[in-house]
Amino acid sequence: MDCKEAQKCIRLFLADELNIGEAKKFVDHVRSCKDCMEELTIEYLLSEGVSRLENADDIDVESELEEKLNRVISRKRVHSQLKAGLFLVVFILICIFLLGGV
Ligand SMILES: [Zn+2]
Repeated sequence: MDCKEAQKCIRLFLADELNIGEAKKFVDHVRSCKDCMEELTIEYLLSEGVSRLENADDIDVESELEEKLNRVISRKRVHSQLKAGLFLVVFILICIFLLGGV
C-alpha cells in the first residue's frame, strides 16, 4: 500500500469499515510511514475530538490510536483461531461419522 492509498483508508479505518486484509495493510503502512501516521492522528483527533472538545485534556491520542492499531492485529488473530477451531470441529465430526458408519 502506498501513501495515496493509505490516506484514502484513514477515514474508513477510523470508522471500522476496512476489511481485515485492508486494515492489516493499512496498519503496516502507517507504522512505517511518519507522514501517514501524522495524517491518521489528525483525522483521529478530528473525529474523536469534536464530541469531546470540552474535555480535550483527557484525550490521550497516542495511546488511544495505538490501542486501535493493535486491535486490528488481535482481531485478525482471533479470526484465525476461530478458523482453526472450526477445522477441529469438522475433523471430529468426520471421525464420529466414519467410526459410527463402520
Ligand atoms: Zn505513507
